[in-house]
Amino acid sequence: MIMNTKTRLITFDACYVRGKNDVYVAPKELEYNSETETLVRIVRGGICGSDIHYCHHGGIGGFPLQHPMVLGHEVVGVTAPEEGSSSVKVAINPARPCNSCEYCLDGQSNQCVDMRFFGSAMRNPHVDGGFSQYVAVRPEQCIPYNPDIEDEIMAFAEPLSIAIHAINQAQSVFGKKVLVTGTGPIGALVVAACRTAGAAEIVATDLIERNRSMALTMGADIAIDPAGDGLEQFSSGKGYFDVSFEASGAVTAIQKNIDITRAGGTMIQVGMSVGMVELPLTKMLAKEISFLGTFRFIKEFATSVQWIEKGLVDPRP
Ligand code: ZN
Repeated sequence: MIMNTKTRLITFDACYVRGKNDVYVAPKELEYNSETETLVRIVRGGICGSDIHYCHHGGIGGFPLQHPMVLGHEVVGVTAPEEGSSSVKVAINPARPCNSCEYCLDGQSNQCVDMRFFGSAMRNPHVDGGFSQYVAVRPEQCIPYNPDIEDEIMAFAEPLSIAIHAINQAQSVFGKKVLVTGTGPIGALVVAACRTAGAAEIVATDLIERNRSMALTMGADIAIDPAGDGLEQFSSGKGYFDVSFEASGAVTAIQKNIDITRAGGTMIQVGMSVGMVELPLTKMLAKEISFLGTFRFIKEFATSVQWIEKGLVDPRP
């Protein structure tokens, strides 16, 4: 038997979730190929809503945890220097597509049928995430960034790439009237990304006052409480908004957006909704509304790193 001399085995600490309210730190043993993979020492990580789901519910959607899994997919770190080289700060793209299925070959790697995504129980065995001292990833998953940028800001590269992909699903928001419903972290980043991408007018809605105020800080022109009648001004005729991003997953928001998105407009569903949703199909077809989903990101991850590096979006609020 020929031993692969490039195989390395290291042990370090990682943050696992085992089930509902069962999160702990334990040693992890990792075998990786030093020739084909890059070892990265993690320095910062953002906590996503999905991480919280795993912690509070022991799973997400239809994917309960089958065994302990390392959490986290919004991470940045420094590459472990090889001999004669220096370390580099990198944002880690948490997606590791197969690069050979029909979707990967067609440029839709976010739809890969054999995706390995950090900290996800969608496949079994689960894929460990980045809340650990080290990860080994493909070199192309490492996007280098200016070391002057604070790591905790660059940790937003992953959620911002979701917002940029949502905009790309809409083709363009340049010069358009945009609605963003639900301005939690992702919705707020959609607002900021729309501003950067040249939207003419951005209206945000959220039931929570703090989220409305956040939307204004992130670049919305106005923020409306959808429980009041503030949206009625946009209902006349065949609607008002060229593009609406629905980031709350609330059924009432989806239904309302069909009224206030203008005929021929585009609706992008960003927020996940639990269970079945009743939609007025006749109204949608008569208004020729394009209703599109958006899932994760493709090349937008590198775009997101550039936008943060150049200060085009400031995620700090
Ligand atoms: Zn694939």
